[in-house]
Amino acid sequence: MFVNQKMTLEDRIKSVIRDVADFPKPGINFKDITPIFYDQVLCSKIVDGFISGIEEKPDAIVGIESRGFLFGFLVANKLNVPFVLVRKSGKLPYKTIGIAYDLEYGSARIEMHSDALQKDWKVLIHDDLLATGGTAAAAARLVEKAGGIVSGFNFVVGLDFLEGKSKLINHNKNITCLVHY
Ligand code: AMP
Repeated sequence: MFVNQKMTLEDRIKSVIRDVADFPKPGINFKDITPIFYDQVLCSKIVDGFISGIEEKPDAIVGIESRGFLFGFLVANKLNVPFVLVRKSGKLPYKTIGIAYDLEYGSARIEMHSDALQKDWKVLIHDDLLATGGTAAAAARLVEKAGGIVSGFNFVVGLDFLEGKSKLINHNKNITCLVHY
């Protein structure tokens, strides 16, 4: 339940996000969004918050594994558009296209089904959190490789001090974070 009806959506989300120090490794302050899912009213407000920020209805929403599936799917469903899963390498059952991207140490690969997007579809990319922007930028390159056009990015949380937006603006400047740190 909302503590106070006058709280902004950002305040309400921040009041339930849990900081977990040194997870998954020392020095990382992990923003745990799982307590949000205990509050059905807040979940609905988050979906509405994303939808009210969308200027032009996309043709599809792409959600990034795994926490990007949660609100990404709810928003897609409410907008009545397809939801596309971007997953780590080897997880999707059908034919895939993929893209490799650099991590702090080493590299990773993400994939989507090869028939997931139609050419020139406007695609909104969704994840739970924007940190350095490497993951969302890789998803944007994957959407473009698949023939789609990135129409924007949505995140529940933005860690603004990591300046992840700088990696995304060349795909699209339309970047929404409901909560900023
Ligand atoms: P990045 O590619 O650096 O923008 O990292 C974004 C991805 O890593 C998202 O899928 C997040 O779920 C996860 N992530 C990165 N940093 C954090 C953090 N401090 N707390 C929670 N998740 C994080």
